[in-house]
Amino acid sequence: MGFTVTVAAMTAHTHSTVDVLVIGGGAAGSSAALMLGRARRRVVVLDNGTPRNAPASHMHGVLGRDHTSPLDYLKHGRADLDRYDVRVVDATVTALGGHVGHFTATTDDGTTISARRVIVTTGLTDHLPDVTGLAERWGRDVVQCPYCDGWEVRDRRIAVLRTSPMSLHHATLWRQWTDRLVYLTDGTEPTEDERTRLGARGVDIVTTPVTAVETTDDALSGVTLADGTVVPLDALAVGLRFSARGELLASLGLHPVPHAMGLGEVIEADPTGATSVPGVRVAGNVSDPSATVIAATAQGAFVGAQTNLELVMEETDAAVARHGARPTLDGAFWDALYRESDRRWSGNPNPPLTLVAASLTPGRALDVGCGEGADAVWLDRQGWETTGVDISAVAVERARALDDSVTWETRDLVHDPLPEASFDLVTMHYFGILRSDGDDAVRRLAATVAPGGTLLMVSHARVQGHSWAGFDPMDFWSPSEVGAVLDPAEWDIRVDETRPRPAPPAGAGAHHVDDEILVAVRR
Ligand SMILES: Cc1cc2nc3c(=O)[nH]c(=O)nc-3n(C[C@H](O)[C@H](O)[C@H](O)COP(=O)(O)OP(=O)(O)OC[C@H]3O[C@@H](n4cnc5c(N)ncnc54)[C@H](O)[C@@H]3O)c2cc1C
Repeated sequence: MGFTVTVAAMTAHTHSTVDVLVIGGGAAGSSAALMLGRARRRVVVLDNGTPRNAPASHMHGVLGRDHTSPLDYLKHGRADLDRYDVRVVDATVTALGGHVGHFTATTDDGTTISARRVIVTTGLTDHLPDVTGLAERWGRDVVQCPYCDGWEVRDRRIAVLRTSPMSLHHATLWRQWTDRLVYLTDGTEPTEDERTRLGARGVDIVTTPVTAVETTDDALSGVTLADGTVVPLDALAVGLRFSARGELLASLGLHPVPHAMGLGEVIEADPTGATSVPGVRVAGNVSDPSATVIAATAQGAFVGAQTNLELVMEETDAAVARHGARPTLDGAFWDALYRESDRRWSGNPNPPLTLVAASLTPGRALDVGCGEGADAVWLDRQGWETTGVDISAVAVERARALDDSVTWETRDLVHDPLPEASFDLVTMHYFGILRSDGDDAVRRLAATVAPGGTLLMVSHARVQGHSWAGFDPMDFWSPSEVGAVLDPAEWDIRVDETRPRPAPPAGAGAHHVDDEILVAVRR
């Protein structure tokens, strides 16, 4: 478990703010991190290498890894994490603060990590009975859970040391693994239930207090009683008190509560691991002392997925809020955009226009969204009787200053188009028609083309992940989608394709390397 990370290395390897911070990289924490890493989350796991079962040389009841070292299990788990954006850092978390969306954890070397969510999987502390020599044998031949270690000591001399009224249940269970069982009440007078139920199963009851655990050749050989008697044994089972390793959570106002069976304290959570502090979840032994390795692993996976779901919901809510905050693409919006600079566009006609119009006989042309007028002026000079229309008065003023032989109009052509069947060429370059305007807007614009006339629409090919003014590329009609709306009985689609742009711009628009082009001729 030796992971040494200096502050410099940690800075190099971790993000300043990650999606999820997992505190405790045992079975539960590593499993949560795996799910989150696979969900494309940035995750940091902080772990100080002290899993609860570290004293045991082998772990059992873990499908696929039965009778292997618990530390090997975690080593394999960490190798799995290497495939994803998950950093496991060897550090002790000493302080935790903040709130949902911005938690901060400080480690023993003074490093601070911020995260949107926190999963605490710090496990629990077992409180061993105060019997001389017992702690030294813990996890070896002083054991607790029969499912973990019963098979290995089956049919041998085993004693159950009474530590609470729950020890009757413990002893009854252990009897399944051996009929050579002794019940050590450690000075407590056995209850009637203990005598009846254990007596019926042939369990010997010893009431004298236990003073020491005896060892011979590095193996437990018995217990010594207060009267000096030695009870020969091969294993000693103890029912333990435990407390959640949840001290860190106190600063967030989260405190342990008594466990339902009165055996210790746990951090309370709902079935999805959510605690009463928004954004903080728990998994594994810190909240469920009965969770074995495989159960803690499963809980971690579930809680990791629940945390991802919570983030997905938050991100979706934010997107919806942003959506509501999108600007209205009206004249005022475009005027403001044009006013940001003296000239917005290059002043050159768009190459698809020059290509398409070259093969047409000049007639009446409409440039939809003419902007500063380069396309309309070019058409005018090719002999077209041209009308240039734009929603921005600022743009139209600049266009008019270029050439006043073009008919210039400031108008919202999406909602208020020109009369039907009026133009031999209607050209739209990078003119966004919102899907939310429905297909009526598309149909009305197309209707301005005269029979025999041409509709030319050119847009940037959609680039996923690039938004503009809060709009997604999918929010606008693509030329191909416009073509699909046109009635085939009335329209002949001549070109419907994506082409590389002859000269993609540098800077902010550099991702627009392809154009989508539609050329449709009205029959
Ligand atoms: C002796 C013994 C033998 C066992 N044998 C078995 C067995 O054979 N089979 C089985 O299924 N179960 C066994 N168990 C139970 C097993 O230990 C638990 O099921 C398992 O450890 C629970 O995993 P967890 O991730 O919840 O907690 P843990 O494994 O305890 O992991 C908690 C992690 O949190 C880290 N941590 C805690 N505090 C901090 C902090 N402040 N900063 C950074 N890191 C921190 C610790 O280093 C640790 O790695 C045994 C338990 C014991 C005591």
